[in-house]
Amino acid sequence: MPELPEVETTVRGLAPVLEGQRIEHVLLNRADLRRPFPVDLGQRLTGAAVTGLSRRAKYGLIDTDRGDTLIFHLGMSGRWRIDPAELGKHDHVVIETARHRLALNDPRRFGSIDLVPTAELGSWPAFKALGPEPLSEDFTAAHLVDAFRDRIAPVKALLLDQRVVAGLGNIYVCEALFLSGIAPTKPAGSIARAKLEKLVASVREVLEAAIRAGGSTLRDYARPDGELGYFAKEWRVYGREGAPCSCGRPVQRRVDSGRSTFYCGKCQR
Ligand SMILES: [Zn+2]
Repeated sequence: MPELPEVETTVRGLAPVLEGQRIEHVLLNRADLRRPFPVDLGQRLTGAAVTGLSRRAKYGLIDTDRGDTLIFHLGMSGRWRIDPAELGKHDHVVIETARHRLALNDPRRFGSIDLVPTAELGSWPAFKALGPEPLSEDFTAAHLVDAFRDRIAPVKALLLDQRVVAGLGNIYVCEALFLSGIAPTKPAGSIARAKLEKLVASVREVLEAAIRAGGSTLRDYARPDGELGYFAKEWRVYGREGAPCSCGRPVQRRVDSGRSTFYCGKCQR
């Protein structure tokens, strides 16, 4: 399932292909993914030039010179294919420029495509209440001190709360808590500021490592039938229940409301 680093990698992979290019054709092979496409999607995109690409949380943003931003979400199984040799049945949205053909492929169809006036992005429902981007300068220990003050909820639950920090998923939260030596169940408000400094650095570290791994995978994909997909990563605790932690103790797993947490009971306090 695509997480923030996959979306970031996708945006970085699409940027050189799309930036400055005019969209000549838009082909919609169905009317919806998780929700209906905007009814005028093809009309508003056709003829528009792409002025820039970026990411917010787990959404990719494609700005056009018509004042619209196409917002894509990869859902559970979405990926963009660049210049596929032929289109497949899961290529639901196809965008053509003079040089390239891009297909949004999504077998499980939990992804989404929206088109929003760029000036209104800040008030778009999914963006309105989002906390800071974890890779931005706004994500600091001071921010976490404020967000965690007097909170007795487990730190892990608050890190997964998109109002506290945008776009962090289960894998990266487990890994960042391990790197910073914080028990996932620790009441957020009880964590010392020095530990929060370490946590902020750890969140950045795990995300940046995954983006770097994605970047190298991306080069492997830079073939005529290139796809922007996902990359496997060696995790320190995630998915490693029973395997030895670097301290020698087995990695533990607990399940809360259906979601697994992996951690080391010795290294994380
Ligand atoms: Zn350990």
